[in-house]
Amino acid sequence: MELIGLEYEVDAVVLGGGISGSCIAKALAGKQWETALIDRRNFPRHKVCGEFLSPEAQSTLRALGLTETVASLHPTRIERAKLIFEQGGEIELPIPGAAWGLSRYMMDEALHTTAMQTGAQLHLSTTVTGIEQHEKGYTVRARQGADVKLFHSRAVIAAWGANARMANAGQGHRPDAAASCQQAYIGVKTHYAGLKMEPVIEMYFFQGGYLGLCPVEDGSVNAAALLNRSEFVKAGKSVLSILEAAIERNRRLAERLATAVPVHDTQAAIAPVYLQRKPSPWDGHPRIGDAAAMIAPLSGDGMSMALRSAALCAPLADAFLRGSISLMEWEHRYTQAIQQEFASPLRWGSLLQWLMNKPAVQQLLPSAARLAPLLANGLFRATRLKPLEPLEFHTKY
Ligand SMILES: Cc1cc2nc3c(=O)[nH]c(=O)nc-3n(C[C@H](O)[C@H](O)[C@H](O)COP(=O)(O)OP(=O)(O)OC[C@H]3O[C@@H](n4cnc5c(N)ncnc54)[C@H](O)[C@@H]3O)c2cc1C
Repeated sequence: MELIGLEYEVDAVVLGGGISGSCIAKALAGKQWETALIDRRNFPRHKVCGEFLSPEAQSTLRALGLTETVASLHPTRIERAKLIFEQGGEIELPIPGAAWGLSRYMMDEALHTTAMQTGAQLHLSTTVTGIEQHEKGYTVRARQGADVKLFHSRAVIAAWGANARMANAGQGHRPDAAASCQQAYIGVKTHYAGLKMEPVIEMYFFQGGYLGLCPVEDGSVNAAALLNRSEFVKAGKSVLSILEAAIERNRRLAERLATAVPVHDTQAAIAPVYLQRKPSPWDGHPRIGDAAAMIAPLSGDGMSMALRSAALCAPLADAFLRGSISLMEWEHRYTQAIQQEFASPLRWGSLLQWLMNKPAVQQLLPSAARLAPLLANGLFRATRLKPLEPLEFHTKY
């Protein structure tokens, strides 16, 4: 028989303490709701991400009251993007507005601290293993080592990313049926020391994927790659061996990294990655961040979307907990808001991903000298969220 270690009565439970989870936990705690934030990992931790925070994130960070928290980590300012193709050609694009390079190691930890200082309870190394919905709300079952924890709450928000690890998943979470017929990718990352970089994000394309170099706060450079899984199955099991196999597919990338040294213990991997095209914002409870929709990482807007979904969901969660709206109304209004804001960037993100995977496009783009930057710029812009309107709906936190 299983022993229940601890039981908690809270207003809201947030499943997953990445960017979206911490932000909504902070927002709800700021409204005086007892909020538990649960993550299966211990923090700080390195996470597969390009670590490029797009200018579109700024208005949402402001609305969530998080600009100072993030700015105080001294992110690197990024002004341009360089796309470098397998055949050696390149395109350079200006980045309008303030884009930042910031490690997830620092950022996610800082967001946890802010959420806790606002009053949220943090449960790390705690894996959610089941969610039960009943008349009074939900019971979330989680495991921390040998202990089982039960959280009873009126609201549950799933912020556990695209690859939620939930053993014994009940009805609450199952992989998208469509995922099995989609292209599967692997994501890998490391930090490098010994690389000089301008305030530029460099994206290298090659057969089977791409790799982005982004300078981050401590002078090191983050390298993150998204690779077609089928093309890299023989590349070995370590992150560095997979990265090596990717790097040798683009001569200019190999030259660029010739003297770079991987920083110890900064490697991370994630697989499989499926890029959903359609948002899936509700599953008996709201889903936010990558759990709701994952945009092609190439657009560099995933974190901005994670923040935005938290900002869209928080006022509705607050209204629900106050008793001003029903669960059904929360579902309806949140689903509508996500469809309205995310559907178009997701579609364009998929198109961008598909086009950049085509060797013919990679060959053509750099030679179409004047047209290419316009085209590429237009495409990237189409993947972006509109700035967050200061509507009454977007309460300040
Ligand atoms: C290769 C690659 C490059 C990218 N580059 C960029 C970029 O440059 N810029 C950008 O904006 N976006 C980028 N992204 C996307 C970005 O990383 C995500 O959009 C963002 O991390 C989503 O945040 P989230 O809070 O939804 O989920 P996550 O940050 O993934 O957090 C989810 C959390 O849930 C936890 N969790 C999962 N299951 C459980 C469970 N059962 N119990 C408890 N906790 C659980 C996990 O441990 C994790 O901490 C990239 C993604 C990839 C794959």
